[in-house]
Amino acid sequence: MEIYPPGAAFIRSEGQTPAECEDSAWAQYQHALDCTDGTGRHDWESRGYRNGAGFCSRCNTVDPQVFTGEQLGQHCRVCQTGTTCHWETDEATGQVSFLCADHCPPLEGPALDDEAVEQLLPGLVESDDGKKSWPMTTTTDQENPS
Ligand SMILES: [Zn+2]
Ligand SMILES: [Zn+2]
Repeated sequence: MEIYPPGAAFIRSEGQTPAECEDSAWAQYQHALDCTDGTGRHDWESRGYRNGAGFCSRCNTVDPQVFTGEQLGQHCRVCQTGTTCHWETDEATGQVSFLCADHCPPLEGPALDDEAVEQLLPGLVESDDGKKSWPMTTTTDQENPS
C-alpha cells in the first residue's frame, strides 16, 4: 500500500491484512505529521543522493524532490546552473560532473512522445555508455514485420 498524503511525502506500508496495512500507514502518517510540527518541514538530509531526494532524519519520510542543485553544490558543467537532472562519473578520475535539464542528454522525460523516442533510440544505442536505461518494451519485429 502506497499513499501520498498532504504533509507527508510518501508512505509505504506493509501488513498482513488490508486493515493492518491501513493502520500502519496511518501511524506513519501521524508520525510524519508530528515530525513536521505543523510547519510541513522535515529535517531533510540528502544522504548522498544527487537526484534531489531528501530523507527526514527524524521520521524517515522520503521526498523525491527536496534539494536543488544549488543546495547540493551540483552545477551544470556547461552553464553552471544548479541541477539534479543528470550527472556522469569520469571512470578515469572519479570526478563527477553535472548537466542541467537543458544540457543533459534526452534520456527521460514525459515531454517525449513515442515518435521522438523512436527517432532517438538508434543514437542512444550507438552511444551506449552503460548508463542508458530505456525501457525497451517494443521490438523492431513488432514495428516492422518482415
Ligand atoms: Zn520528519
Ligand atoms: Zn546547463
